[in-house]
Amino acid sequence: MSIVSAREMLLKATEEGYAVGAFNITNLIQMEAVVEAAVERNAPLIIQTSVTPSQFLQPHVISAIYRTIAESAPIPICLHLDHCTDMGYCKTCADAGYTNIMIDASKQTIDENIRQTRAVAEYCHALGDISVEGELGTVSGIEDQVKVAEDEAALCDPEAALEFVNRTGVDIFAPAIGTAHGVYKTKNPKLDFDRLARIAEIINGKEARVPLVIHGGTGLKPEVVKKLVSLGGSKFNVSTDLKHTLIDTQYDYISSHRDEYNPGKIDTAVKDAIKGRIHYWIDLLGCAGKAD
Ligand SMILES: [Zn+2]
Repeated sequence: MSIVSAREMLLKATEEGYAVGAFNITNLIQMEAVVEAAVERNAPLIIQTSVTPSQFLQPHVISAIYRTIAESAPIPICLHLDHCTDMGYCKTCADAGYTNIMIDASKQTIDENIRQTRAVAEYCHALGDISVEGELGTVSGIEDQVKVAEDEAALCDPEAALEFVNRTGVDIFAPAIGTAHGVYKTKNPKLDFDRLARIAEIINGKEARVPLVIHGGTGLKPEVVKKLVSLGGSKFNVSTDLKHTLIDTQYDYISSHRDEYNPGKIDTAVKDAIKGRIHYWIDLLGCAGKAD
């Protein structure tokens, strides 16, 4: 039951009103940490890599490690490629064994976005049970190779969202509603809750059809996260929080143990810290106990 694609997992989340954490990892320690924490909470899990770490570690290596870990885990786990702007690399990762692919053509015109997203969806669906995520509107900030200035960011038009979903055949959909990648520059970022509610109503009002994704989870207040989930966000992306946790923990550990040369102890400190963050997010998103 452990190796799954996101579609079924997220349809269930949409129907039952919780979100699944989609956690970006850059190495094996982080992958083990997110899996262990999700198993401890009996939560479904989406492991994500953005394009640069995926290229660095190589997709077939990540996929092999994911499959080895997931096969013996008692929870459903997906492996997702985050924000890929290159259709060829989307296909490479699908071929290598990723279970979900995000084609991010959100900076293109809507027609070109639809064309590229549809082509990736057709490829992945023909290959097997691989879910595809598309994005409409643009999320500001920096996520790996995708950089969008605040004044370039465009929110998702709800009517266009329906057209996008219908014409592309995507399995999961990321509407831009004002969240941002990286660290928020203001304590109260302007999020368009009404827009999210409208999009959820149009797409999933009658029945859960295409689960919605919230990007830019890091730094949002707990009550804001809960509201986004209650309005229909069922995949919740967290990346920057985990990068900061990794680097800060390593820095603190090494700074306070300057004479110790034991990499395993640094890894243990990192793993414990990452697990703490994953527990926090799982509890906040309401997916604890939802693995069955
Ligand atoms: Zn994102």
